[in-house]
Amino acid sequence: MGITFCRGEKMVLKLFTPGHGAFMDSLIMYGLVSSLPSDTKCRVSCIAGFFEINIENKTFQEVASAIAGNIHGHAESIISHLIDNLKVVQKGSRGRLESYLNNHKQPEIIADNLKRFYTSPGHAQYEGRYHKGQHVWLPFYPHLGKYFTGEYKYSPANYGVCPTCITLAALGFYKAAIPIRFTPPKTVSHIILLSFEGEVSSETLANMLVFVGSDVFSGLVNELRPMVENLPLTTLTYFLLANFTSPLIYMIHESKAIWTALSMTLDIVKGQVVQIRGYEEISIDRYLSSLVHLMQIDKKYNIDSIGKLVTVTKRLMRKGETAAIESLYKFLNTRSYIDLYSSIRQIIKVLEEGPGKSFCEELVCLTQLA
Ligand SMILES: [Zn+2]
Repeated sequence: MGITFCRGEKMVLKLFTPGHGAFMDSLIMYGLVSSLPSDTKCRVSCIAGFFEINIENKTFQEVASAIAGNIHGHAESIISHLIDNLKVVQKGSRGRLESYLNNHKQPEIIADNLKRFYTSPGHAQYEGRYHKGQHVWLPFYPHLGKYFTGEYKYSPANYGVCPTCITLAALGFYKAAIPIRFTPPKTVSHIILLSFEGEVSSETLANMLVFVGSDVFSGLVNELRPMVENLPLTTLTYFLLANFTSPLIYMIHESKAIWTALSMTLDIVKGQVVQIRGYEEISIDRYLSSLVHLMQIDKKYNIDSIGKLVTVTKRLMRKGETAAIESLYKFLNTRSYIDLYSSIRQIIKVLEEGPGKSFCEELVCLTQLA
Protein backbone atom coordinates (compact mmCIF):
# COMPACT_ATOMS: atom_id res chain seq x y z
CA MET A 1 0.00 0.00 0.00
CA GLY A 2 1.25 3.46 -0.82
CA ILE A 3 3.86 2.45 -3.36
CA THR A 4 3.10 2.02 -7.04
CA PHE A 5 5.41 0.96 -9.81
CA CYS A 6 4.99 2.41 -13.24
CA ARG A 7 6.84 2.88 -16.52
CA GLY A 8 9.61 0.32 -16.18
CA GLU A 9 11.75 0.70 -13.11
CA LYS A 10 10.37 3.97 -11.76
CA MET A 11 9.09 3.61 -8.23
CA VAL A 12 6.59 6.14 -6.93
CA LEU A 13 5.86 6.46 -3.25
CA LYS A 14 2.49 8.10 -2.59
CA LEU A 15 1.67 9.97 0.60
CA PHE A 16 -1.64 11.67 1.36
CA THR A 17 -2.30 14.47 3.82
CA PRO A 18 -5.13 13.66 6.26
CA GLY A 19 -7.90 16.04 5.14
CA HIS A 20 -7.93 18.37 8.15
CA GLY A 21 -8.84 21.37 5.96
CA ALA A 22 -6.81 23.60 3.66
CA PHE A 23 -4.72 25.32 6.34
CA MET A 24 -3.59 22.33 8.39
CA ASP A 25 -3.15 20.06 5.39
CA SER A 26 -0.98 22.72 3.74
CA LEU A 27 1.16 22.85 6.90
CA ILE A 28 1.50 19.05 6.92
CA MET A 29 2.33 19.03 3.18
CA TYR A 30 5.08 21.63 3.73
CA GLY A 31 6.39 19.62 6.69
CA LEU A 32 6.72 16.56 4.44
CA VAL A 33 8.02 18.30 1.30
CA SER A 34 10.57 20.45 3.15
CA SER A 35 12.13 17.24 4.46
CA LEU A 36 12.83 15.63 1.10
CA PRO A 37 16.47 15.59 -0.06
CA SER A 38 17.18 18.20 -2.78
CA ASP A 39 17.75 15.53 -5.45
CA THR A 40 14.21 14.15 -4.96
CA LYS A 41 11.83 14.23 -7.92
CA CYS A 42 8.38 14.82 -6.55
CA ARG A 43 5.00 16.14 -7.68
CA VAL A 44 2.46 17.50 -5.24
CA SER A 45 -1.17 17.75 -6.17
CA CYS A 46 -4.18 19.01 -4.27
CA ILE A 47 -7.66 17.96 -5.31
CA ALA A 48 -10.75 17.74 -3.15
CA GLY A 49 -9.22 19.07 0.02
CA PHE A 50 -6.08 17.03 0.56
CA PHE A 51 -2.60 16.77 -0.93
CA GLU A 52 -1.16 13.78 -2.75
CA ILE A 53 2.63 13.71 -2.68
CA ASN A 54 4.24 11.53 -5.35
CA ILE A 55 7.88 10.85 -4.54
CA GLU A 56 9.98 9.14 -7.20
CA ASN A 57 12.64 6.51 -6.56
CA LYS A 58 12.84 6.80 -2.77
CA THR A 59 12.05 4.02 -0.36
CA PHE A 60 9.82 4.44 2.67
CA GLN A 61 12.89 4.21 4.89
CA GLU A 62 14.72 6.94 2.95
CA VAL A 63 11.74 9.30 3.21
CA ALA A 64 11.21 8.52 6.91
CA SER A 65 14.93 9.12 7.63
CA ALA A 66 14.82 12.43 5.77
CA ILE A 67 11.80 13.63 7.79
CA ALA A 68 13.38 12.46 11.07
CA GLY A 69 16.61 14.25 10.12
CA ASN A 70 14.73 17.46 9.31
CA ILE A 71 12.93 17.35 12.68
CA HIS A 72 16.19 16.54 14.46
CA GLY A 73 17.93 19.49 12.82
CA HIS A 74 15.20 22.03 13.58
CA ALA A 75 13.52 20.84 16.81
CA GLU A 76 15.04 23.55 19.03
CA SER A 77 14.30 26.29 16.49
CA ILE A 78 10.69 25.09 16.03
CA ILE A 79 10.11 25.28 19.81
CA SER A 80 11.64 28.73 20.20
CA HIS A 81 9.93 30.07 17.04
CA LEU A 82 6.44 28.84 17.96
CA ILE A 83 6.50 29.30 21.73
CA ASP A 84 9.03 32.04 22.64
CA ASN A 85 9.07 34.17 19.51
CA LEU A 86 5.60 34.08 17.89
CA LYS A 87 3.78 32.77 21.00
CA VAL A 88 1.35 30.83 18.79
CA VAL A 89 1.72 27.79 21.07
CA GLN A 90 1.24 28.28 24.81
CA LYS A 91 4.20 27.91 27.19
CA GLY A 92 2.26 25.19 29.00
CA SER A 93 2.40 23.05 25.83
CA ARG A 94 6.23 23.20 25.59
CA GLY A 95 6.67 19.74 27.16
CA ARG A 96 4.23 18.13 24.76
CA LEU A 97 5.71 19.81 21.68
CA GLU A 98 9.19 18.75 22.82
CA SER A 99 8.10 15.16 23.33
CA TYR A 100 6.31 14.98 19.92
CA LEU A 101 9.40 16.34 18.18
CA ASN A 102 11.75 14.04 20.12
CA ASN A 103 9.68 10.96 19.24
CA HIS A 104 9.63 11.92 15.58
CA LYS A 105 13.42 12.22 15.48
CA GLN A 106 13.30 8.42 15.20
CA PRO A 107 12.93 7.22 11.58
CA GLU A 108 11.21 3.97 12.69
CA ILE A 109 8.39 5.91 14.38
CA ILE A 110 7.92 8.14 11.31
CA ALA A 111 7.97 5.13 8.94
CA ASP A 112 5.46 3.28 11.06
CA ASN A 113 3.06 6.24 11.37
CA LEU A 114 3.34 7.25 7.71
CA LYS A 115 2.46 3.69 6.72
CA ARG A 116 -0.51 3.60 9.08
CA PHE A 117 -1.93 7.08 8.49
CA TYR A 118 -0.55 8.68 5.31
CA THR A 119 -0.50 5.97 2.61
CA SER A 120 -4.17 6.35 1.74
CA PRO A 121 -6.48 9.37 1.82
CA GLY A 122 -8.92 10.01 4.64
CA HIS A 123 -6.87 9.73 7.84
CA ALA A 124 -8.81 12.75 9.20
CA GLN A 125 -12.01 10.75 9.47
CA TYR A 126 -10.44 8.87 12.39
CA GLU A 127 -9.58 12.05 14.26
CA GLY A 128 -10.84 15.61 14.57
CA ARG A 129 -13.91 16.97 16.24
CA TYR A 130 -15.05 14.96 19.29
CA HIS A 131 -12.07 12.62 18.92
CA LYS A 132 -9.45 12.17 21.62
CA GLY A 133 -5.80 13.01 21.06
CA GLN A 134 -3.84 16.25 21.13
CA HIS A 135 -6.33 19.12 20.86
CA VAL A 136 -5.04 20.93 17.81
CA TRP A 137 -3.30 24.24 18.50
CA LEU A 138 -5.47 27.05 17.20
CA PRO A 139 -2.96 28.68 14.77
CA PHE A 140 -2.66 25.28 13.02
CA TYR A 141 -6.43 25.11 12.60
CA PRO A 142 -7.77 28.68 12.62
CA HIS A 143 -11.37 27.61 11.89
CA LEU A 144 -11.71 26.52 15.51
CA GLY A 145 -11.22 30.12 16.65
CA LYS A 146 -13.75 32.29 18.42
CA TYR A 147 -14.37 34.22 15.23
CA PHE A 148 -15.45 31.08 13.41
CA THR A 149 -17.26 29.59 16.36
CA GLY A 150 -19.63 32.54 16.16
CA GLU A 151 -19.89 32.53 12.41
CA TYR A 152 -20.54 28.84 11.84
CA LYS A 153 -21.99 27.95 15.23
CA TYR A 154 -19.40 25.26 15.90
CA SER A 155 -19.46 24.01 19.45
CA PRO A 156 -16.06 24.40 21.15
CA ALA A 157 -15.48 20.63 21.21
CA ASN A 158 -12.08 19.00 21.27
CA TYR A 159 -10.45 18.61 17.86
CA GLY A 160 -8.06 15.76 18.55
CA VAL A 161 -5.23 14.81 16.20
CA CYS A 162 -2.43 12.26 16.44
CA PRO A 163 1.18 13.13 17.35
CA THR A 164 2.33 12.73 13.71
CA CYS A 165 -0.23 15.23 12.38
CA ILE A 166 0.65 17.84 15.02
CA THR A 167 4.42 17.30 14.61
CA LEU A 168 4.36 17.66 10.82
CA ALA A 169 2.07 20.70 11.12
CA ALA A 170 4.52 22.31 13.59
CA LEU A 171 7.40 21.64 11.18
CA GLY A 172 5.36 23.04 8.26
CA PHE A 173 4.40 26.14 10.25
CA TYR A 174 8.06 26.78 11.05
CA LYS A 175 9.10 26.33 7.40
CA ALA A 176 6.28 27.91 5.39
CA ALA A 177 4.10 30.28 7.42
CA ILE A 178 4.97 33.97 6.99
CA PRO A 179 4.36 35.83 10.25
CA ILE A 180 3.97 39.62 10.24
CA ARG A 181 3.91 40.93 13.80
CA PHE A 182 2.54 44.31 14.80
CA THR A 183 4.93 46.51 16.78
CA PRO A 184 4.68 46.19 20.60
CA PRO A 185 2.73 46.81 22.77
CA LYS A 186 0.32 45.41 20.13
CA THR A 187 0.12 41.64 20.44
CA VAL A 188 -1.49 41.01 17.05
CA SER A 189 0.11 39.12 14.15
CA HIS A 190 -0.89 38.22 10.63
CA ILE A 191 0.09 34.75 9.45
CA ILE A 192 0.18 34.10 5.69
CA LEU A 193 0.49 30.64 4.18
CA LEU A 194 0.61 30.15 0.42
CA SER A 195 -1.34 27.16 -0.80
CA PHE A 196 -2.81 25.79 -4.01
CA GLU A 197 -5.17 23.46 -5.79
CA GLY A 198 -3.78 21.61 -8.80
CA GLU A 199 -0.26 20.33 -9.32
CA VAL A 200 3.09 21.83 -8.34
CA SER A 201 6.61 20.37 -8.48
CA SER A 202 8.51 19.95 -5.24
CA GLU A 203 11.26 22.08 -6.83
CA THR A 204 8.91 25.10 -6.93
CA LEU A 205 7.79 24.46 -3.35
CA ALA A 206 11.38 23.99 -2.16
CA ASN A 207 12.50 27.24 -3.84
CA MET A 208 9.61 29.08 -2.22
CA LEU A 209 10.46 27.70 1.23
CA VAL A 210 14.12 28.70 0.85
CA PHE A 211 13.11 32.26 -0.07
CA VAL A 212 10.45 32.57 2.66
CA GLY A 213 13.02 31.34 5.22
CA SER A 214 15.79 33.67 4.00
CA ASP A 215 17.24 36.60 5.97
CA VAL A 216 16.44 38.94 3.07
CA PHE A 217 12.74 38.10 3.28
CA SER A 218 12.64 38.25 7.11
CA GLY A 219 14.31 41.68 6.90
CA LEU A 220 11.60 42.91 4.54
CA VAL A 221 8.84 41.59 6.81
CA ASN A 222 10.44 43.38 9.78
CA GLU A 223 10.58 46.61 7.78
CA LEU A 224 6.81 46.33 7.28
CA ARG A 225 5.97 46.13 10.98
CA PRO A 226 5.44 49.85 11.66
CA MET A 227 2.93 50.08 8.76
CA VAL A 228 1.24 46.75 9.20
CA GLU A 229 -1.78 47.77 11.25
CA ASN A 230 -2.85 50.39 8.70
CA LEU A 231 -2.90 48.13 5.66
CA PRO A 232 -5.43 45.45 4.74
CA LEU A 233 -4.12 41.90 4.78
CA THR A 234 -4.74 41.53 1.03
CA THR A 235 -2.53 44.53 0.23
CA LEU A 236 0.22 43.26 2.55
CA THR A 237 0.07 39.85 0.90
CA TYR A 238 0.40 41.37 -2.58
CA PHE A 239 3.30 43.58 -1.51
CA LEU A 240 5.16 40.58 -0.05
CA LEU A 241 4.70 38.68 -3.31
CA ALA A 242 6.13 41.64 -5.29
CA ASN A 243 9.33 41.09 -3.30
CA PHE A 244 9.69 37.45 -4.32
CA THR A 245 12.52 36.88 -6.82
CA SER A 246 11.53 36.97 -10.51
CA PRO A 247 12.41 33.27 -11.12
CA LEU A 248 10.26 32.29 -8.14
CA ILE A 249 7.29 34.39 -9.33
CA TYR A 250 7.61 32.73 -12.77
CA MET A 251 7.76 29.25 -11.23
CA ILE A 252 4.67 29.82 -9.08
CA HIS A 253 2.77 31.45 -11.93
CA GLU A 254 3.65 28.73 -14.44
CA SER A 255 2.68 25.80 -12.21
CA LYS A 256 -0.55 24.02 -13.10
CA ALA A 257 -2.28 25.25 -10.00
CA ILE A 258 -4.64 27.86 -8.60
CA TRP A 259 -2.82 29.69 -5.80
CA THR A 260 -4.36 31.15 -2.67
CA ALA A 261 -2.85 32.95 0.31
CA LEU A 262 -4.44 31.51 3.45
CA SER A 263 -4.20 34.42 5.84
CA MET A 264 -5.21 34.78 9.46
CA THR A 265 -4.99 37.51 12.03
CA LEU A 266 -4.43 36.41 15.60
CA ASP A 267 -4.02 38.09 18.95
CA ILE A 268 -2.11 36.79 21.93
CA VAL A 269 -4.08 37.73 25.02
CA LYS A 270 -3.14 37.35 28.70
CA GLY A 271 -1.31 34.19 29.63
CA GLN A 272 -0.25 33.58 26.01
CA VAL A 273 -3.73 32.54 24.89
CA VAL A 274 -4.27 32.76 21.12
CA GLN A 275 -7.47 34.23 19.71
CA ILE A 276 -8.21 34.23 15.99
CA ARG A 277 -9.44 37.65 14.87
CA GLY A 278 -9.98 36.83 11.22
CA TYR A 279 -9.27 34.40 8.41
CA GLU A 280 -9.20 35.11 4.68
CA GLU A 281 -8.42 33.08 1.58
CA ILE A 282 -6.88 35.54 -0.87
CA SER A 283 -6.72 34.63 -4.53
CA ILE A 284 -3.34 35.62 -5.97
CA ASP A 285 -3.24 34.23 -9.53
CA ARG A 286 -4.49 37.29 -11.37
CA TYR A 287 -2.13 39.51 -9.38
CA LEU A 288 0.80 37.15 -10.12
CA SER A 289 -0.03 37.36 -13.83
CA SER A 290 0.23 41.17 -13.58
CA LEU A 291 3.66 40.79 -11.95
CA VAL A 292 4.75 38.39 -14.70
CA HIS A 293 3.61 40.86 -17.35
CA LEU A 294 5.55 43.67 -15.63
CA MET A 295 8.60 41.37 -15.61
CA GLN A 296 8.19 40.79 -19.34
CA ILE A 297 8.09 44.56 -19.91
CA ASP A 298 11.30 44.79 -17.82
CA LYS A 299 12.97 42.14 -19.94
CA LYS A 300 12.11 43.98 -23.15
CA TYR A 301 12.88 47.55 -22.12
CA ASN A 302 15.08 47.01 -19.05
CA ILE A 303 13.10 49.49 -16.94
CA ASP A 304 12.72 47.47 -13.72
CA SER A 305 8.96 47.88 -13.26
CA ILE A 306 8.80 45.44 -10.33
CA GLY A 307 11.62 47.30 -8.60
CA LYS A 308 9.66 50.52 -9.13
CA LEU A 309 6.50 48.88 -7.75
CA VAL A 310 8.40 48.01 -4.56
CA THR A 311 10.04 51.46 -4.36
CA VAL A 312 6.78 53.33 -5.00
CA THR A 313 4.96 51.19 -2.39
CA LYS A 314 7.67 51.83 0.20
CA ARG A 315 7.58 55.60 -0.48
CA LEU A 316 3.79 55.60 -0.12
CA MET A 317 4.14 53.59 3.10
CA ARG A 318 6.63 56.09 4.55
CA LYS A 319 4.16 58.89 3.82
CA GLY A 320 1.34 56.88 5.41
CA GLU A 321 -0.65 56.94 2.14
CA THR A 322 -2.47 53.67 2.69
CA ALA A 323 -5.41 54.57 0.41
CA ALA A 324 -3.00 55.09 -2.52
CA ILE A 325 -1.29 51.75 -1.80
CA GLU A 326 -4.63 49.93 -1.64
CA SER A 327 -5.71 51.55 -4.88
CA LEU A 328 -2.46 50.51 -6.65
CA TYR A 329 -2.78 46.86 -5.62
CA LYS A 330 -6.49 46.84 -6.43
CA PHE A 331 -5.60 47.87 -9.96
CA LEU A 332 -2.93 45.14 -10.20
CA ASN A 333 -5.78 42.69 -9.55
CA THR A 334 -8.51 44.14 -11.71
CA ARG A 335 -6.39 45.83 -14.44
CA SER A 336 -9.45 47.97 -15.17
CA TYR A 337 -9.24 51.53 -16.59
CA ILE A 338 -11.28 52.97 -13.72
CA ASP A 339 -8.96 51.47 -11.10
CA LEU A 340 -5.93 52.56 -13.14
CA TYR A 341 -7.21 56.14 -13.27
CA SER A 342 -7.93 56.20 -9.55
CA SER A 343 -4.54 54.67 -8.72
CA ILE A 344 -2.49 56.96 -10.99
CA ARG A 345 -4.30 60.05 -9.73
CA GLN A 346 -3.42 59.19 -6.12
CA ILE A 347 0.20 58.19 -6.79
CA ILE A 348 0.98 61.29 -8.87
CA LYS A 349 -0.66 63.51 -6.25
CA VAL A 350 1.49 62.04 -3.47
CA LEU A 351 4.78 61.39 -5.25
CA GLU A 352 4.53 64.02 -8.02
CA GLU A 353 7.35 63.54 -10.55
CA GLY A 354 10.02 60.84 -10.51
CA PRO A 355 9.60 57.08 -10.24
CA GLY A 356 5.90 57.47 -9.48
CA LYS A 357 5.18 59.10 -12.82
CA SER A 358 7.21 56.77 -15.06
CA PHE A 359 5.88 53.77 -13.18
CA CYS A 360 2.31 54.93 -13.81
CA GLU A 361 3.06 55.02 -17.54
CA GLU A 362 4.19 51.38 -17.39
CA LEU A 363 1.03 50.40 -15.52
CA VAL A 364 -1.06 51.50 -18.50
CA CYS A 365 0.33 48.48 -20.42
CA LEU A 366 -1.48 46.15 -18.01
CA THR A 367 -4.89 47.36 -19.15
CA GLN A 368 -4.15 45.79 -22.54
CA LEU A 369 -4.37 42.35 -20.93
CA ALA A 370 -7.61 40.51 -20.47
ZN1 LIG B 1 -3.18 12.21 12.53
